[in-house]
Amino acid sequence: MIKVGVNGYGTIGKRIADAVAMQKDMKLAGVTAHSYSFNTEVAKQKGYKIFTVNDENDLKLNGIKPDGDINNLLEELDVIVDATPKKVGKENLDKYYRSKKIKAVFQGGERHEVTGTSFVAQCNYNEGINKDYVRIVSCNTTGLCRTLHTVDKKYGISSVHATMIRRGADPWDIYHGPINAIVPVLEMPSHHGPDVQTVLHNVEIFTTALSVPSTLMHLHTLTVDLKKKANLNDVIELFKNSTRIRIVRNAEHLRSTAEIMEFARDLGRLRGDMPEICVWQEAIGITSNAHNKLLYMQAVHQESDVIPENIDCIRAMMGFKDGEKSIQMTNKSFGIK
Ligand code: NAD
Repeated sequence: MIKVGVNGYGTIGKRIADAVAMQKDMKLAGVTAHSYSFNTEVAKQKGYKIFTVNDENDLKLNGIKPDGDINNLLEELDVIVDATPKKVGKENLDKYYRSKKIKAVFQGGERHEVTGTSFVAQCNYNEGINKDYVRIVSCNTTGLCRTLHTVDKKYGISSVHATMIRRGADPWDIYHGPINAIVPVLEMPSHHGPDVQTVLHNVEIFTTALSVPSTLMHLHTLTVDLKKKANLNDVIELFKNSTRIRIVRNAEHLRSTAEIMEFARDLGRLRGDMPEICVWQEAIGITSNAHNKLLYMQAVHQESDVIPENIDCIRAMMGFKDGEKSIQMTNKSFGIK
């Protein structure tokens, strides 16, 4: 059993903790609480051990007896998954993990340079094997990497232009926006393109991005110049048969991010999550003259697409060599293909 702890029990951390607890080859040693909240109450109800990172009185005053502090948690672990807000992961590496010689997985808010290895299981599982520190790329980069790697393997990619229409905030978040504007990222390219290249090293990609007043998923539009000619039905089949990608259709009335999220809830997914990248069948197109320009649109559930990646990354770092097998094990526990 791989002993795993989660530091940073928020949007991403609580999902990772549940996913770890579902794996047959992993044991959740505990989670941290930075401050008392409903998240801590739920962790307690689930029977997770709770470790403090700052003031233990905050928990005690609210009726929670901590199981120790972060140093106690780190003593019990093979791997810590750090899901703290961006840049705190790097501080934690310097403050705790390196000196205690604990393997650590970081999230997309950290820079690639913090670990030197960035990870999307179906693209570069082998790069994570036996590493001490690995970063799971952001939700947007994970979405781009999954479908682009699939296309690149079959057709070869000459270049990509992609635009990310990003949700303004997560659904619980009362602090961020916009609530009445469309806000472009005023840098060219947006950081997503260079980030994709930390995983897909040889793909030429240029990205632009903007934020909109929605909390339900990101939407990407992609234009991909292919090295080999493609046919529309083959591309649809390719996406249908690829892991962690789901074709969604107008005929199912899955015409928007709102309907996809409702669909995930109806499927009975934990928290209504949709960890697969959803590609709209009717929004896949190939230019008719040369058959080598592919266009498609995809939706990315920002809160959940990176969760299976964290699980596979833990196995890779612990020396489990068979990436495909790890992906299958993780997928089975999530009920995805
Ligand atoms: P979040 O704010 O929802 O959760 C962070 C948690 O860490 C909170 O519970 C907070 O109390 C806790 N925390 C704060 N400081 C801490 C400290 N010093 N030690 C321990 N815990 C501390 O943030 P999130 O959205 O889960 O993001 C976490 C990481 O995941 C970031 O790197 C982010 O970029 C990345 N990420 C976020 C999303 C998303 O859409 N939310 C998607 C993919 C990746």
